[in-house]
Amino acid sequence: MIQLKNKGQLIVLSGPSGCGKNTICNALLKRNPKLWLSISCTSREPRGAEQDGKDYFFLTAQEFEKKIEQHDFLEYAKYNGNYYGTPKSKIEEYLNQGIDVILEIEVQGALKVKEKIKDALFIFIMPPSMQELKRRLENRGTENEAKIMNRFRIAYQEINEISKYNYVVVNDDVDLAVEKVNAIITAEKCRVDRIEDVYLNSEEEEIHEFLMDKEFDNHDISI
Ligand code: 5GP
Repeated sequence: MIQLKNKGQLIVLSGPSGCGKNTICNALLKRNPKLWLSISCTSREPRGAEQDGKDYFFLTAQEFEKKIEQHDFLEYAKYNGNYYGTPKSKIEEYLNQGIDVILEIEVQGALKVKEKIKDALFIFIMPPSMQELKRRLENRGTENEAKIMNRFRIAYQEINEISKYNYVVVNDDVDLAVEKVNAIITAEKCRVDRIEDVYLNSEEEEIHEFLMDKEFDNHDISI
């Protein structure tokens, strides 16, 4: 009776560095074959075992700036001294195929997406506490103290923007956090503004006509 829009949902997932966004995204991708994680470009150095083209497209600052001039990004931002940006080329293609697209990006970039794409879904992942966040950042062991402290400082600024998001999920238990994000995405798909068409099959048409006739015959029938 109801046909929903086939277009995929654009999902923006943000949260302070170290809050576990990446783990949540990977778990969502495993569960849902109709979900695609956009791979960002960055001018930062690869960390640990990160691979070019898988975790990020690693570019020099000059290469990144050239892409800015060419309008290759849906959004980009500077974070902790480096550029990060979402290439726009594949996103529309996937959405049109009915595939949901997830962007795992920081807050400045998310707010730019919000200006451009009105029906995007914005989810903020919170760490269980700031102490735990600091512990997670330090335990990575891939950055120096100054960089870690800067990430921690930015985390406070990012949390201040939480009211601009549609949903917040606290990541104190990763399985539960994945469940919650998944439930939010599912609920979003059921919004009435995703209805494209309401129609009746022939049997339903007949019943409808019968009821309409009855209504004319008997004015007591009301909805
Ligand atoms: P990291 O250096 O830890 O990989 O990422 C630092 C921050 O940049 C994280 O909050 C991450 O979500 C964000 N980020 C990753 N890709 C993008 C992007 O394409 N655009 C923006 N604005 N932020 C990004």
